Amino acid sequence: MTPRDEIRTNEVAVAPPVPGDAGLVFVGRIATPWTERTDCPRQGRLDGPDCRIEVFEPWVAALDGIGRYERLEVLYWLHRSRRDLVRQSPADDGATRGTFALRSPVRPNPIGTAVVRLVAVDGPFLTVRGLDCVDGTPLVDLKPDRTLFVPLAPPQPGDFETGPAAS
Ligand code: SAM
Repeated sequence: MTPRDEIRTNEVAVAPPVPGDAGLVFVGRIATPWTERTDCPRQGRLDGPDCRIEVFEPWVAALDGIGRYERLEVLYWLHRSRRDLVRQSPADDGATRGTFALRSPVRPNPIGTAVVRLVAVDGPFLTVRGLDCVDGTPLVDLKPDRTLFVPLAPPQPGDFETGPAAS
């Protein structure tokens, strides 16, 4: 198995623009059983192994209330990915697809997302199941699973807008 850094047959890389208009703050770190990309699941599963998310200060206070939710959406930075492919060949068989039609970790902004089961909250540490990233992956954000979350803020006009009926 090779790490996902080589260019495969028919894949297309570009020279990406210099980043400049956005900055991220990593709010924590994710501990998982996998040290190599090639050992990770392709996608996490809710019955996968326990993983531990550590939230850094000053963000620990932001965890208040998170224990209400059985499932969370986790956003993480797939920091070991190259970022310059516009066409990729996941099966390495010469057949390619556009990066935005894939969930590959190789993308211009290598953000990974997973819906995880929340097992436990212990101060700055969350135990979750459902991740697919390597040990030490930086944490970008945590949110309640959208299917469990009811907005607490009052409704806004846009909440009631619909488009034309599907034909
Ligand atoms: N679940 C996320 C998503 O859909 O946005 C990520 C899916 S991606 C296909 C998961 C794969 O990314 C893993 O199987 C592993 O090969 C790779 N990977 C995991 N952690 C990574 C990291 N920190 N940097 C780069 N690649 C990583």
